Amino acid sequence: MARNREQWQRASRHLPGGVCASARSHKGLGSPFYVSRGEGSRVYDLEGNEYVDLCTSFGSALLGQAHPRVSQAVAQALEMGLICAHEHEWHAQLAQRIAEAVPAVEMLRFTMSGTETTYYAVKLAREYTGRSLVVKFEGHFHGYNDYLAYNYWPSPAEAWPQVTPAAAGMPEDWQGGCIVLPFNDFERAEEALIRRGHEIAAVILEPVNYNSGTLLPEDGFLPLLRRLTTEQGSLLIFDEILSGFRTGPGCMQATYGVVPDLCTLGKALGGGMPLSAFGGERSIMEHVAPLGRAQHSGTYNGHLSAIAGGLAFFDVIGQAGCYEALLARCQRLYAGIDEIAGRLGFPARVQGLGARFSLLFGPPAGRTLRRYRDVVDNDWPMFHRFCSACLDHGVYLHTMWHHGISAAHSDADVDRALEGIEAAFRDVLAESSE
Ligand code: PMP
Repeated sequence: MARNREQWQRASRHLPGGVCASARSHKGLGSPFYVSRGEGSRVYDLEGNEYVDLCTSFGSALLGQAHPRVSQAVAQALEMGLICAHEHEWHAQLAQRIAEAVPAVEMLRFTMSGTETTYYAVKLAREYTGRSLVVKFEGHFHGYNDYLAYNYWPSPAEAWPQVTPAAAGMPEDWQGGCIVLPFNDFERAEEALIRRGHEIAAVILEPVNYNSGTLLPEDGFLPLLRRLTTEQGSLLIFDEILSGFRTGPGCMQATYGVVPDLCTLGKALGGGMPLSAFGGERSIMEHVAPLGRAQHSGTYNGHLSAIAGGLAFFDVIGQAGCYEALLARCQRLYAGIDEIAGRLGFPARVQGLGARFSLLFGPPAGRTLRRYRDVVDNDWPMFHRFCSACLDHGVYLHTMWHHGISAAHSDADVDRALEGIEAAFRDVLAESSE
């Protein structure tokens, strides 16, 4: 990895931290993990060494790196003249495919990134309801827009009931615009939504909280939010930028049978291209300009190369057996990691649902993980060492909350990943006993 370090020094001259997104720093290496290319289930470092990819581009590469169908579609878009800031037939085609697959969506708008998508979804909810308060849940991540960036991963001293900005530079007087609640806390949700319901424009959440350890909604929690928001005239927004398409084409709203008023989609949606969207019921979406007063515009919205990626994505996930095979391999991986950790006596546990999982180090095996507070003592230094050791054994897992395989990973890839993970567990154990 000598070239990785050199590249970091070069990149750091003009890019803060040597990266284009702060999350790309690899906390085990102390620098980013630079890649030269990716193909299918593999990524390659600057020296050409191959790694089984368990990061899958933070969840964007659900089809694998450079899926041929996506590459062909993008090439076609390029031949058509890099159409940008124009409308084209493909936009409506992709919108229709999303509307057919995702229960909440009758109409939608395309965006580029998740951060802007949650920002626009909240603005639309405010315009639609004529109210301004937003409710979010601790440990749920919605990108770095100032409306929602509170209590992402606060230290115990800064955690709920404090409302803590997740980044510097947020206007102090906006803090009162966001109510933060603990996930899966039925009583507190009921109390807040009834007491302040008349002021609340939207309740937003990750239906499955992948961004804090893949915490699942408890039975009845999503239906409770659905009922209370309907009663209070607030909008329920599922942020499915990460959870979308992990269990099937209908996203988590189909898996849990709870349909929000609005949802956001992203990451997997573009087949690896920068594509995101927010959508929902027609009566709400008709408030978006030019029909209504909620503004949403942007030069690059629905860039045709990204729309091409989205159409290819739907072609691939629509193929018979795509999800069955993917979900079976995910189970093979999760069960395999748990088996290895159990056999070696390594204090790790997998929390997985569909094609995304978290690997937690520390929370005792008997503890039920319901909300951020239950994972706040995760042993990050040990996890970061483990991620570095994985690189030594040909597996790329990023030092973050969630990981995953793609439709391009074979059983052999999963087995290869398990070998690397076992070797990395052994390295960390040996190091801790020194
Ligand atoms: N919402 C969720 C649930 C996410 O997981 C993310 C990204 N991890 C975002 C929003 C922000 O998306 P982006 O990185 O595309 O801005």
